[in-house]
Amino acid sequence: MSLINRDTTLRWIELFAAQMDEHRQDLIRLDTAIGDGDHGTNMNRGMQKALEKLQAAEQADPSAVLKTVAMALISSVGGAAGPLYGTLFLQLGTALAGHAEVDLPTYAAAWRTSVEGVQARGKAEPGDKTMVDALLPAVAALEQASDLNTGLRAAADGAEQGMLATIPLIARKGRASYLGERSAGHQDPGSTSTYYLFESAAAAFTS
Ligand SMILES: [Mg+2]
Repeated sequence: MSLINRDTTLRWIELFAAQMDEHRQDLIRLDTAIGDGDHGTNMNRGMQKALEKLQAAEQADPSAVLKTVAMALISSVGGAAGPLYGTLFLQLGTALAGHAEVDLPTYAAAWRTSVEGVQARGKAEPGDKTMVDALLPAVAALEQASDLNTGLRAAADGAEQGMLATIPLIARKGRASYLGERSAGHQDPGSTSTYYLFESAAAAFTS
């Protein structure tokens, strides 16, 4: 497959929603260790709300799908996850506006814009033990890829590496930062949901 379209974008979102449902307890467990324990519940509720909104009206292109997801997350998810994932999907949707079909360079550039938006919104730097630590290697992998199939697979692998690399880190952003050194030894829940986001993308766009 060489291009991303409306249908593959919908499949990505459906797979991500299914992953948030399947891994809700894992995310709760991770967030309970170093945060307030709401990440699994929030992401699952937000993505179920996104599915409802997507089913309620037809979307013309990938941009419309992504903006619908963004609005559902912003309006239904509290804490940090709603605004940050909302920003991610909104920036991605905005960057892809006007494209019924999306090629790899356009997709990678849209993701770069999206990550910059998330970083601006959350004020997180690499190594702060946040979703940014999974996002950055994933986007770098997309930028370095020569085709969508291998690029999306490499992005998911990059996100996984970034997620695992948060384990020894001391949190510098979010509620986990209140724990200081005691946050080390725990995997960041936000980077974990972001890993599932890219794993879902690889499955949706390459199947
Ligand atoms: Mg939380």
